Parts: sequence; C-alpha cells; structure tokens
Amino acid sequence: MRLLIYSKALYSTWVYYSADRILFDAGEGASSILGNKAFAVRHVLLSHGHADHIAGLVGLVNIRNNAMGDKEKELTIYYPKGNYLVTEMMNFLSRTNRRLTYELEWVPLEAGDRVELLSGQMPRYIEAFPTVHVHSEPSLGYNVVEVRHRLKPELAGLDEREIVERVKRDGKAAVTEHYHQKLFSYGGDSVPLKPAHVAETEILCHDATFLDERDRKEYKHATLAEAIATARDAGVKKELICFHISSRYKSRVREIEAAGGEVEGLDFRVTLVPPGRIFAVE
Ligand SMILES: [Zn+2]
Ligand SMILES: [Zn+2]
Repeated sequence: MRLLIYSKALYSTWVYYSADRILFDAGEGASSILGNKAFAVRHVLLSHGHADHIAGLVGLVNIRNNAMGDKEKELTIYYPKGNYLVTEMMNFLSRTNRRLTYELEWVPLEAGDRVELLSGQMPRYIEAFPTVHVHSEPSLGYNVVEVRHRLKPELAGLDEREIVERVKRDGKAAVTEHYHQKLFSYGGDSVPLKPAHVAETEILCHDATFLDERDRKEYKHATLAEAIATARDAGVKKELICFHISSRYKSRVREIEAAGGEVEGLDFRVTLVPPGRIFAVE
C-alpha cells in the first residue's frame, strides 16, 4: 500500500502517504481508520482549515498519547500561514493536551516553503504551492520532491566504457546533473491547479468534487474534466487520483469503475476515489 485514502466531499478527507509517513489533511475518522498506522505518521500537512480536513486532528493527537504504541514519536503539523481555523484548532488542542508524551510541533508554511524529509544521496523534500479554494482563508498544496541524478544529456551518445573513463578522469559530478522529480502532488480542495505547480509529477491527487459541471454552484472546487485537463497539461507521468468527489455521484463512480474506468488517449492512469470508501492505491 502506497496510499490510503478516505475522501467524501464535505464529510471527511485524508490521504496517508506511507513512503514518507505523511498524512495529507486529517478529516474525521483518520486515526480510527489508520489504527496502528496513526503512530507511524511523522508529518501532517494541512491544505486548509475546513472541518472536513482537520476534524480528525483531535483523535490523532489524543490517540498517540493514549493508545498502545510508540508514544514518544514526535509529530509535526504544517498548515497555511495565517489560517484562522487551523490556528483555533491549534489553540484548542494546546489547551486540552497540556501533558503530551511526545513532542507536537505546529509549523506555518507559505507557498514556496520547503520541509526536508530525507538528506543524503537522494534528498527528498516537501514544497508548498498556492491553491485557490475560498477567499476567506489561505490554502496550500504540496509536492513531495526527490533530487535525482542523471547523465548529462550532451553525453547521451557515449558508450558505457567511455563514461566510466570520464568518471575516473573528471569525477562523477562532471558527467551527471541533478534534477528535481516530483513523486506525489497533493492539491487539497481547489479549483483547477496551475499545471506549472505540479509539472511532470508522477502522481497527482486533484480535487474532482463535481463529475458534472452543472452541479457546481460556486467556483471553489474542480470538476473531473478539469482535473484530467490539468493533469494532461502538467504532463503527469503515472496516475491522476481524483478525490473529494461529492457523495451524490456514488453510483456514477461505481458505474465508471465497473466499466474499467479507462479514459482513452492519456499517458497516465485515472483513478476515482469512491466517496465514503477506504481506498488503497498500490
Ligand atoms: Zn473539503
Ligand atoms: Zn474546503
């Protein structure tokens, strides 16, 4: 399991990304469904402060203090700087959990800010990017990025022996360049993301609250068609995960699933997260 997702628009949304032990948003029920995995969570990244994305923090903070498990692992919660609803939740949790067995830290982020996840040969970090949801509060999306190395493009024609020679002679840095590969992009609630913010990501998790554009009364969420267009323009490499789908489409999603869910002519897979179902992505 790489991702464990629960998402039902207005009720609850959270996405557990196991590779880096990140919980993106923390809607109601996150800790009770995660069970033991609640102790594995190292970072919580909040996209915004609506109840369906933060109500699960109450359970998560509490369970790590009380249930059987490693009660000393620290937990860091990142949120969009200046978000009033998240700040109120932070104050409430601080007042009602004065003696935690672990270190709980709250870190405000702005678009462009980075959080280091791994150092070493292939460093990995999170980068926040701006999203557009409601005007009353700031919101953010997040990329998980890995720094990788590859052969300099101008050396692509050389055979292996020649490359080995050059490494011996000039060092590895002379033949390779590094690049930043987005592994996973989480958009939270948003109108269509700017493709540049999630360009060439491997997996994009995009708002698709509405399957039918005519059902959208206010411009604060995206449609399935917009999510697909954004992923295409961004050059998504592997998979588009459409989430935050309204529960009114429960049976429609089931029909699409039964039909194989294939969308023709795309370079990536399209997955719809059925509203109200615990959903695992391998
Ligand atoms: Zn929401
Ligand atoms: Zn929202």
